[in-house]
Amino acid sequence: MTKRYGAIEAGGTKFVCAVSDENLNVLKRIKIPTTIPAETMNEVFKFFEENPCDAIGIGSFGPIDVNRNSDTYGYITTTPKEGWANYDFLGEMKKRFDVPYAWTTDVNVAAYGELKRGAAKGLDSCVYLTVGTGVGGGGVVNGKLLEGFGHPEMGHMIMRRHPDDKYEGHCPYHKDCLEGLTAGPAVEARHHGVKAYEIPKDDHDWEIEAYYLAQACMDLTVVLSPEMIIFGGGVSKQEQLFPMMRESFKKQMNGYLKTPDLNKYIVHCALGDDAGITGCLLLAQEEAEKANK
Ligand code: ADP
Ligand code: ZN
Repeated sequence: MTKRYGAIEAGGTKFVCAVSDENLNVLKRIKIPTTIPAETMNEVFKFFEENPCDAIGIGSFGPIDVNRNSDTYGYITTTPKEGWANYDFLGEMKKRFDVPYAWTTDVNVAAYGELKRGAAKGLDSCVYLTVGTGVGGGGVVNGKLLEGFGHPEMGHMIMRRHPDDKYEGHCPYHKDCLEGLTAGPAVEARHHGVKAYEIPKDDHDWEIEAYYLAQACMDLTVVLSPEMIIFGGGVSKQEQLFPMMRESFKKQMNGYLKTPDLNKYIVHCALGDDAGITGCLLLAQEEAEKANK
């Protein structure tokens, strides 16, 4: 029997489930809107009943519990999303499908996908930052997912303010953290409600956006020294941000560290919407191989 691997990219807006053959070619993929667990997860269960897998990789929105020694390992923890706080995601999956699982964040799986098959192919480390409805960051260091007592929450780095920025920030916990200042809703609030993709590309607000994102790159560089910083998410589709971020990064670094060529260091994702699913499938394959040893 040939093997089948499963993937769940569980986002705050939508879930994507996929099943692949043993060479990770996707055979089937579905999108499910993220509503309440009773609805969304029923669709997930149905998908894997119809498409049995030998192992499943899950990358979930969070915060989630990734600490194997914790009583709530496998749970989504403190999200404000109705019905999902303290939801035993992994437990509910295991009850129905007794297979090996990989369990980590949506951004860690995207980082893993980009490292193995995308922009950072051939490297040992990278950071993946998504700038969309929120800001999230994941990473791989020495080929391993970046996790400690929990998982990184790079979206909540505290920022030094841009002198021209009057916007107070919208993070309910910190106001002007990275997410509070740079996520899509922040870009739109700063620009008095104009849709982010309708703001002119030469508007000064993009300089402000690039300044904060470059500041995040600066902090990530001095803390982790990754080989590449990869951006995804809706806001990163504004291509003009990339030269601005590199320029601002150079200024903020002020010659302190020699970094890789910035055109190859601060980059847009290569796999686009496939990064997460690719990462989930790779991790599922690894779990299946570990279980067979
Ligand atoms: P999610 O984070 O919900 O998975 P996205 O990454 O698409 O989804 O992020 C949605 C946010 O990104 C919205 O705030 C939206 O305004 C913004 N966005 C989407 N597309 C673009 C674009 N082309 N340019 C700028 N902002 C965008
Ligand atoms: Zn915050």
